[in-house]
Amino acid sequence: MITGGCQCGAVRYRISGPLFGAHICHCRMCQKAFGNFFAALVGVKKTDITWPRLQPAVFRSSSVSSRGFCPQCGTPLSFAYDHSDHMSVSIGSLDQPDLARPENQFGMEGILPGFATLHTLPGSRTEDDVSPDDMKKLKSFQHPDHE
Ligand SMILES: [Zn+2]
Ligand SMILES: [Zn+2]
Repeated sequence: MITGGCQCGAVRYRISGPLFGAHICHCRMCQKAFGNFFAALVGVKKTDITWPRLQPAVFRSSSVSSRGFCPQCGTPLSFAYDHSDHMSVSIGSLDQPDLARPENQFGMEGILPGFATLHTLPGSRTEDDVSPDDMKKLKSFQHPDHE
């Protein structure tokens, strides 16, 4: 069973079948919906996914598609075309996001100039940027990566 959910844990999902077609999408609608450079999504059959807690809230982003998100914390969770028997979940919302390795890029018309060099930027780890004292005070309210 593959599991995932939003940052606060109000919305959780379970996937009983395989993940497929992992991709990123640079289109302007995905940028806006994720508040980000691009959306990272992976396919599941609609009949393979269940929502044991709250149902996601849904924004009708076009006449043929909907996007699901947590009504309490706003985490983007899903994208679906009405006519299709599959849908996508956001890779970052999986409890094990490393299960989905993107294989394609879509919406290339919207690609942002900084994307090509993202992986070459200087990097640091969270503990390099937050002092040990502040790390001790830090209490996460994020739902853990399991049920
Ligand atoms: Zn939430
Ligand atoms: Zn898109």
